Amino acid sequence: MKIAILPGDGIGTEIMAEAVKVMAVLDLPFETETALVGGAAYEAHGHPLPESTLNLARAADAVLFGAVGDWKYDKLDRPLRPEQAILGLRKHLGLFANLRPAICYPQLTAASSLKPELVAGLDILIIRELTGDIYFGQPRGRRVAVDGHFPGAEEAFDTMRYSKPEIERIAHVAFQAARRRNKKLTSVDKANVLETFQFWKDVVTEVHAQYPDVALDHMYVDNAAMQLVKAPKSFDVVVTGNMFGDILSDEAAMLTGSIGMLPSASLDKANKGLYEPSHGSAPDIAGKGVANPLATILSLAMMLRYTLNQAEAAVRIESAVDAVLSAGLRTGDIWSEGMQRVGTREMGDAVVAALSGRVAGKTTTPITQA
Ligand code: NAD
Repeated sequence: MKIAILPGDGIGTEIMAEAVKVMAVLDLPFETETALVGGAAYEAHGHPLPESTLNLARAADAVLFGAVGDWKYDKLDRPLRPEQAILGLRKHLGLFANLRPAICYPQLTAASSLKPELVAGLDILIIRELTGDIYFGQPRGRRVAVDGHFPGAEEAFDTMRYSKPEIERIAHVAFQAARRRNKKLTSVDKANVLETFQFWKDVVTEVHAQYPDVALDHMYVDNAAMQLVKAPKSFDVVVTGNMFGDILSDEAAMLTGSIGMLPSASLDKANKGLYEPSHGSAPDIAGKGVANPLATILSLAMMLRYTLNQAEAAVRIESAVDAVLSAGLRTGDIWSEGMQRVGTREMGDAVVAALSGRVAGKTTTPITQA
């Protein structure tokens, strides 16, 4: 199992160090190689995604990615900005399916902005198509309008489009994910207004014929946005296009209270993937040793489940995280009254301890206050 480790910038290096510690105690034949990406790669090689990093990612079975970016790079030309590394990796590795679980650990319900009874035990999976839709459709640009409400005025336009194979492949990913879970899939569209999404709905319905064991329903995106805050637990797996997925996955993430807890995966057609926390490089807390490493550790669990077919090891990690939370350990982003505040390293150590069968927490593990 060859894993490319790309820590990136800001808290990326700190949270990655903890995930690597967890890998080390899993007793699996990992072969890891680390490379620079993002701002760190720009500083060293003049490009956020150097050829050597891309080649390593291509050769690996999976990529574990930290986070990239820093405000100090905001003035660079767009192709040289750290964030371009993620777009480049997605493009070159053919990653088209973004999986973002939104799990609300019962121990953390107080961190959600919703009532505890609405989110306690929430476990949904949002699957977003990554390569098509209005984000990449051509033509796009600015011009002088020749028709519309204001002919002769300056206007901008984008093109929303999806091809049948693009919809089919993301639908297969979604049905297969639903099969591994509660066999319930909601496809989100705007078929009442947009031709592209009537087509989306038709194609998803067609693919459904191959998955008769999975229950499929369709929902308009405006209703889905509403239901996500009204009755989030009514969903299991949600599949949608690039733009709707961008918005809904962030909405779902916030149901759980902290972005520091949320892993994600981006998969290609062979389930090879790039795994990363949903958050960014958090320059405001970088270098302070206070970042929550659990989203990265849980991204490693997703890697084991979706790419490396090591579901048992994935469950071990998830149970260890659960045990650490039950023991009352909290980084600053998820801390609440009465809980033990710990730093990045202590949180990683506690997960390692839990994996090794030791109970982490106030009484048994010497955890220093961060
Ligand atoms: P961010 O996710 O980095 O931070 C948002 C807030 O959440 C900050 O207050 C931060 O301290 C906090 N936070 C994030 N992760 C945390 C963690 N693990 N533990 C505790 N607190 C955490 O988003 P931002 O501030 O909008 O962006 C900062 C930089 O990250 C920018 O340069 C942006 O472009 C980049 N970014 C990168 C990625 C990525 O690498 N995939 C994603 C989003 C943003």
